[in-house]
Amino acid sequence: MSAGAKPQHAETLLYLGDVTVSFDGFKALNNLSLDVGAGEMRAIIGPNGAGKTTMMDVITGKTKPDTGRVVFRNLDLTRYDEAAIANLGIGRKFQKPTVFESHTAWDNLELALKANRSPLATLTWKMTSEERDRIIATLERINLKPAFATLAGSLSHGQKQWLEIGMLLMQEPDLLLVDEPVAGMTDAETEKTAMLLRDIAQTRSVVVVEHDMEFVRALGVRVTVLHEGSVLAEGSLDSVQNNQRVIEVYLGR
Ligand code: ADP
Ligand code: MG
Repeated sequence: MSAGAKPQHAETLLYLGDVTVSFDGFKALNNLSLDVGAGEMRAIIGPNGAGKTTMMDVITGKTKPDTGRVVFRNLDLTRYDEAAIANLGIGRKFQKPTVFESHTAWDNLELALKANRSPLATLTWKMTSEERDRIIATLERINLKPAFATLAGSLSHGQKQWLEIGMLLMQEPDLLLVDEPVAGMTDAETEKTAMLLRDIAQTRSVVVVEHDMEFVRALGVRVTVLHEGSVLAEGSLDSVQNNQRVIEVYLGR
């Protein structure tokens, strides 16, 4: 399977074309091209230093590419700053959970709702019953309904990760970027996270970077292998795991 294989979806939501990012002459991304469909979930794998996090930094506007195109719907993302890109409907989950530890799970979701509003609107904000229902539905979705009144700081590592995903969902992103969500999770939490992301991908696009191959298998989606800042292979997990170049990169030559 070549990197240029035709995408299997009809409509492209996110497109990276020949993106290069250099740090002091070192190319963290090297002519990276990638295409994610509307409603598609894509898994990104690759050895340490392959450029996975830098790719997310480019999509979210944290890093500006030296060259290349980053297109979301028909918007050129390189023209927008981080806050504007978040407002366009791209949510990002970083590796470490960043929840408000001294607030309850419920309050964290409520704060995420308010984060959409201007400071002035927040002052006079009153939750509608529809918004209440959304918080309840999100708590159910992230397996935290029984823990709604628990302080986030008292949740397990896995539960904190779910809560942060829930906070992102409150903003209703069209594209969710998730960097190594199951690192440090128990097997049971990992399994539940795969189910959660599959559920989310029914209504949004998801790009998930992950090392855990069992988890990637549970996602059951198309996989892109990054290596030295470019796409090395793309296809089903089985096809990339049997790809000779991928095997060489993972085992070292
Ligand atoms: P991955 O997430 O796949 O492990 P990264 O995208 O974090 O890889 O990093 C890709 C390469 O770019 C690595 O060699 C890393 O050291 C380098 N890199 C990433 N960010 C910076 C930066 N801000 N300054 C210099 N080098 C960086
Ligand atoms: Mg990384």
